[in-house]
Amino acid sequence: MSPIDDTFGVDLIDGREARLGEVPIRRVLPTKGRRTVGAWCFADHMGPADVTEEHGLDVGPHPHIGLQTVTWLLDGQVLHRDSLGSEQVIRPGQLNLMTSGSAVTHSEEATGHYRGTLEGIQLWVALPESTRHAEAAFEHHAELPRREYDGGVATVLIGDLDGTTSPARRDTDHLGVDVDLHATTTLPVHRDHEYAVVALRGAVDVDGYRIRPGALAYLGTGRDELRLEVSEPARLMLIGGPPFPERVAMWWNFVARDRDELDAAYRSWASADDRFRAVDSPLPRIPFPRPPWSRA
Ligand code: MN
Repeated sequence: MSPIDDTFGVDLIDGREARLGEVPIRRVLPTKGRRTVGAWCFADHMGPADVTEEHGLDVGPHPHIGLQTVTWLLDGQVLHRDSLGSEQVIRPGQLNLMTSGSAVTHSEEATGHYRGTLEGIQLWVALPESTRHAEAAFEHHAELPRREYDGGVATVLIGDLDGTTSPARRDTDHLGVDVDLHATTTLPVHRDHEYAVVALRGAVDVDGYRIRPGALAYLGTGRDELRLEVSEPARLMLIGGPPFPERVAMWWNFVARDRDELDAAYRSWASADDRFRAVDSPLPRIPFPRPPWSRA
C-alpha cells in the first residue's frame, strides 16, 4: 500500500504521564499506536513546572545513538552540555539541535541563574542510514524564521513550510513547526507526507476532533492543506514528513535498526568503553535500565 492510500482522518492517541526529576512530562510519541511520524520518533511535552537556579530537568550525562534531539522551550531556560564540548543555555524561541551520529553524550541542567516556570518539548528525529553512523554535531539557533497568518504565527524549527525554511540541519525531508494561534488558520502541507499535531496549550480542532495537550493527533497523508480550527488560543507543534522508509528499533536513549545495535550501544555505555565520550557536567550519569533481552 502506498503512503498516499494511507489514513486520511484523525487518530487521537493518548500519551502517558511520567516525570523527569521534578518536572512532569507527557510522552506522546512513541506510543503503542504510533511509532513514527515522518522521521520523528519521540516527543515529550515537559512541564510547566517551577524550577530554581540549582534544580530543573537535572538530567545527568546519558548517551544517544541514531537520532537528533530537538529542544524547544515555551517558558524558562535549560543548560545543555555535551561530549563535543558544547555548553549552551536555551531560551524560548531558540532551537537546540544535537545530532548523535553513532555516539554522543549530553546533560540537561539548571542554568545557575534562572528561577521560574519551565515548559517545553523535546523531540527526536531518527537519522537516515547516510548519517546515523557518522560524527556527532550540535547546533544552536537563536532565531528562526516566522511566518504570519491571519490567525497567528508559525515558527519553522526544522524544514520548509510553504517557502519559509529553517536554517537548521536536517538529513531527511521532515518538518517541525511551532504554531501559535488565536483564530482559525489553514496551513499548506504536502499530500505525500504524513503529519501529526501535538497541542501544548489550549485546544485546536481538526476535522471535528478536538486536540488537547497530552495526546498526539495523527493526521496521516493525503492532505494538501491543514485547517486548524481555533475557538480558544492554542499553541501546538506540527510535525511531519515522508513516512520513514525503514523500521526503527528504539530502546532507552538509542535509535537503531535492530536489537544487536541497541545491545552494542548498551554494552558500550555500561562498560564505559571509549565509544561514548564524557560530558563536563557536575551531575552524575543517569541510571540505566537493564535491557529486556539481557539475561545476565
Ligand atoms: Mn537526551
